[in-house]
Amino acid sequence: MQSSLVKKNSRTIESVQRVIGHVKGEFKGPTVVFFGGVHGNEPAGVVALQRVFSALKNTSSPCFGEFFGIAGNLPALEKEIRFLDEDLNRIWFPHRLESLHRDSSVQNAETGEMLALYQCIKDILATASPPFYFIDIHTTSGETEPFIVVNDSLLNRKFTSSYPLPVILGIEEYLTGAMLSYINELGYVAFGYESGKHKDPEAITNAENFIWYTLGLTGFYPLDAKGIDKAKAKLDVSNITSKRFYEIYHQYLIKEGAYFKMLPGFENFQIVPKGQAIAVNGKGTILTRKKRQLFMPLYQKKGREGFYFIRSVPKFFLWVSKYLRMLGADTLLVALPGIKWASSKKEAILVDRRIARFFAKSIFHLLGYRTRQAGKNLFILKNRERSSRTWEYENTPWQ
Ligand SMILES: [Zn+2]
Repeated sequence: MQSSLVKKNSRTIESVQRVIGHVKGEFKGPTVVFFGGVHGNEPAGVVALQRVFSALKNTSSPCFGEFFGIAGNLPALEKEIRFLDEDLNRIWFPHRLESLHRDSSVQNAETGEMLALYQCIKDILATASPPFYFIDIHTTSGETEPFIVVNDSLLNRKFTSSYPLPVILGIEEYLTGAMLSYINELGYVAFGYESGKHKDPEAITNAENFIWYTLGLTGFYPLDAKGIDKAKAKLDVSNITSKRFYEIYHQYLIKEGAYFKMLPGFENFQIVPKGQAIAVNGKGTILTRKKRQLFMPLYQKKGREGFYFIRSVPKFFLWVSKYLRMLGADTLLVALPGIKWASSKKEAILVDRRIARFFAKSIFHLLGYRTRQAGKNLFILKNRERSSRTWEYENTPWQ
């Protein structure tokens, strides 16, 4: 295990190695990979991982499979800033990775970090055994209860429903180039966990409890039913936010160089009445036009996502969409005018909105698709289900 230093009486990190820790168990089992500090001003995940690895050193329990702790943006962690040149969690596009391999002159601080992390992930996938779990720990600039953010695949949904936490679906429609979306598209269980507010000691404790429960849930660390329940209860810290699935339906994107300031005092998941002033931009005050539920209000200078609106997803929709996806109902879509497969791999469909304008986004969501604009009237919709490596997760303890 690599060592690293945490300054006394402070939660900042003096120096941290790429591999925070790695434990290979005595027996076969899953591969659990945690990332911390992909944003350099969010050291909670790194500190929590350091604590879990040092506690594991002192236990005599046999472990099953492998457990890795990987640090994200090393130079930014050292400087305690979100990033140096560009956001490391917004650049994970296959075409960018390819161009970096071809031409190293296009590198900056973060693309260098991306390449190093990419190599780490590749090595883990090549040397360790399935099933693989990838989890990225973050913290937020505003006050928040801990929560989970996932790309909407049935595999991700099923796994994250084991946590007593709110789960936010569909962030991939608004936020592109996230590392975990990239890994999720390779077919693995991969999602983000937000453990609390930056620099809040509770965010570290929450992340530690989250890691332990995950190690138990995946079967890496042996916990009996009682132990699992105990670890799960520790995560259940909120009595305000309901532990259910939510979806994002609106994002306030700050234009390059534009003025934006969130008004003080808003918390994540807060329900705001109609007509409430929530933020100020160059044109004036932003008021809510309806009653809204706020998500991730921005209280830091860096970052272009001002705030989001979310709503809870009724259980009935989750159920219907599960069966429609299992039946492969999307194969019927391409028989409709204006809709066709993007390639012979059938992982994505192209929708011409001039022809298929009768289609609401929510229908595509039900079937497992998330939209990206690909041209003026053209949308490309990626299906999470077709790439899922579901067979690798059969007979896991949480199924
Ligand atoms: Zn973050």
